[in-house]
Amino acid sequence: MPHRSWQLTLRWTLLWLLAGALLVAGGTVVQRIRAGQHAPASAARTQPGPAGKLATPATPGPVAPWVLGAAPLPRRPDGFGVARSTPPALMNRRLSTVDLLPPPTSTSFQSTIGPVPPQVLARSTWKPICPVKPEQLRYLTMSFRGFDARAHTGEMLVNADAAQTVVGVFKRLFAAGFPIEEMRITTEAELKLPPTGDGNNTNAFVCRQTRGQTGSNQTQWSAHAYGLAVDLNPFNNPSVKGNLVLPELASSYLDRDWVRSGMVVDGGVAVTAFESAGWKWGGRWSAPVDFMHFSANGH
Ligand SMILES: [Zn+2]
Repeated sequence: MPHRSWQLTLRWTLLWLLAGALLVAGGTVVQRIRAGQHAPASAARTQPGPAGKLATPATPGPVAPWVLGAAPLPRRPDGFGVARSTPPALMNRRLSTVDLLPPPTSTSFQSTIGPVPPQVLARSTWKPICPVKPEQLRYLTMSFRGFDARAHTGEMLVNADAAQTVVGVFKRLFAAGFPIEEMRITTEAELKLPPTGDGNNTNAFVCRQTRGQTGSNQTQWSAHAYGLAVDLNPFNNPSVKGNLVLPELASSYLDRDWVRSGMVVDGGVAVTAFESAGWKWGGRWSAPVDFMHFSANGH
């Protein structure tokens, strides 16, 4: 019957319109993820640290988004993860920064230097066995420029003797627009997480032994355990010793001839700023070669 046929046509039309609307909505979600927006809450990582950041693909095209901290790596006997080739989504890493502290209110560099507040100490890696007392550390807040080109406020624990120097260096980095992904206090909990090899936190004080010394009878504290070393954009500037690459997924960034945003290079602002302050750069070492690492004491 013509009337019934017309009704059927109408129903099919409505059905197709609905399906089309759902596809458009789904496409919007995919576009948001590819554009490096925050993941939906269900996809956010639940461990400490900025939640649910996703990678912007290095090249346009169907590159799967990357959810940080989601995929534990198999462990080596020494506890580090097995190095894996860098996922395409992280080969030219430019993740947006999640603000943990309120962003600066001024376009110029802002910083504070103060004693370590008890609640900051409590969420840090400090414990009584560490080689410095809390009074020997300072809590810094500093403006930094994200890969998203916006200004953010970072936090850092450093040795009191190094506080002015570190602030001076990061002031120069900010003025130069050198991008930093995140700058926050390392927590004890994240040291104990299974390795995922995709971290990129710029930090200073971490109460830990020199890498590779775990299990040794003699504790050899890292310069980080004194607050006398800074790791800058670790993923963009990995350390390598034999087949140990840290972070474990950052091997693409061992190609130092392919200079990408956030990399520390000889003659660049980061090396110049630290070395002019008398600090040493781990990129000049032979084993490990530690491109992220700057230290006041050369260790
Ligand atoms: Zn370091």
